[in-house]
Amino acid sequence: MSYVDEVLERVIAKNPAEPEFHQAVKEVLESLRPVIEANEEKYRKEALLERLTEPDRQFKFRVPWVDDKGQVQVNTGYRVQFNNSIGPYKGGLRLHPSVNLGIIKFLGFEQIFKNSLTGLPIGGGKGGSDFDPKGKSDREVMAFCQSFMTELCKYIGADTDVPAGDIGTGAREIGYMFGQYKKIKSVYEGVLTGKGLSYGGSLARTEATGYGLLYLTEEMMKCNGHEMKDKVVCISGSGNVAIYATQKAQQLGAKVVTVSDSTGWVYDPEGIDVALLKEVKEVKRARLTEYAAARPSAEYHEGRGVWSIKCDIALPCATQNELLLEDAKQLVANGCIAVAEGANMPTTLEATEYLQKNNVLFAPGKAANAGGVATSALEMSQNSERLSWTFEEVDGKLKDIMVNIFHNLDDAAKRYGKEGDYVAGANIAGFEKVADAMIAQGVC
Ligand code: NDP
Repeated sequence: MSYVDEVLERVIAKNPAEPEFHQAVKEVLESLRPVIEANEEKYRKEALLERLTEPDRQFKFRVPWVDDKGQVQVNTGYRVQFNNSIGPYKGGLRLHPSVNLGIIKFLGFEQIFKNSLTGLPIGGGKGGSDFDPKGKSDREVMAFCQSFMTELCKYIGADTDVPAGDIGTGAREIGYMFGQYKKIKSVYEGVLTGKGLSYGGSLARTEATGYGLLYLTEEMMKCNGHEMKDKVVCISGSGNVAIYATQKAQQLGAKVVTVSDSTGWVYDPEGIDVALLKEVKEVKRARLTEYAAARPSAEYHEGRGVWSIKCDIALPCATQNELLLEDAKQLVANGCIAVAEGANMPTTLEATEYLQKNNVLFAPGKAANAGGVATSALEMSQNSERLSWTFEEVDGKLKDIMVNIFHNLDDAAKRYGKEGDYVAGANIAGFEKVADAMIAQGVC
């Protein structure tokens, strides 16, 4: 049996109730087959894959807090420190009722390769809780965050493990957690990223994922003989990633004609009005029907449908599994040149394969949406230096990082005879650096 198959079997046997973790390990190891087969004897002797798929350590803890009625509530907290061979553990804290150990491990495992791809010194980790901030008062959220951090603070630190936001963990939650860390430890250090600007946050973090997506897409287009100017772009979602992807695409001369939310989508052939979109989504927190009502050129449609519009570039920026095989077929039939994932895992495996087989340039989320975590690492650098860089400085570094990511994955794909397969390229480039560091550091 091949080394990859052996390790896959072992991961499933050792972690029986964690299907998302199995899926993530399978996806990564399958695409690494050529690299692993080329070094099979060495990696097997080093037990490299066994070590890579076993977290350095994982914490699971009780989080008791008191609700507004005086009732004690109990949630479960998690932090998985997966791999720190290239830098301190780094990865978000997800607060959502669906959170369990398998989901945190899947996200932590993926984070190792995403962080490595940025070229910055950050290892992989992830954490969270089954607490749901939706519908809770600010006081209840604060009570939860303080209790969560009372335990978590034992395991993290600016040079050890630096958590960030994720689903359910925004600026409010990060603020409460940072306050509690500071109170218990009596140290003022950049232990969390995604902080407010008044206490160590970085300019351009808000824009980073959407802007980064466009910097990488532009480079991928350029290297394949296309330019962004005058291209028609379909975007899904209308949250943080979608809004700033729309803004940057338009700054680069493209025309974005769609956005969506969880109830419907908008087609605006004149090009999305970003100021109006921000007003509707960021200020009023309203539905897209309000955008359409205020914009005569826009049509509103209920349900799904963004990918039915003819476009040159498709940027899924909403959620997982939102671009299906039939959408991929429609995009190909409409002459789409490129798809780049702003969201995490928005394209199903069958849709990805169909797009690649039909010569659509495809940039996976692991690379294309890495601008967020890269800018978090830039926040860590500013905190260590006790300095704040300007928006232009951070944005310039972000652009360089995204362009480098593209070249790294392009080169890695070429080296293994998989030219143009940016999915394989991203996994290989992310893996190589981590594998080298692990081997150099001995058995630990
Ligand atoms: P937001 O919560 O700001 O926005 C998500 C958007 O997707 C909203 O418009 C939401 O609609 C829409 N949406 C949610 N579920 C569905 C659905 N089932 N069908 C259609 N639309 C849906 O999140 P972000 O923009 O921050 O994140 C989007 C994606 O990008 C996620 O996969 C996230 O993990 C990933 N990502 C984000 C990063 C960041 O820095 N923000 C970094 C890296 C990855 P509604 O308004 O109705 O809720």
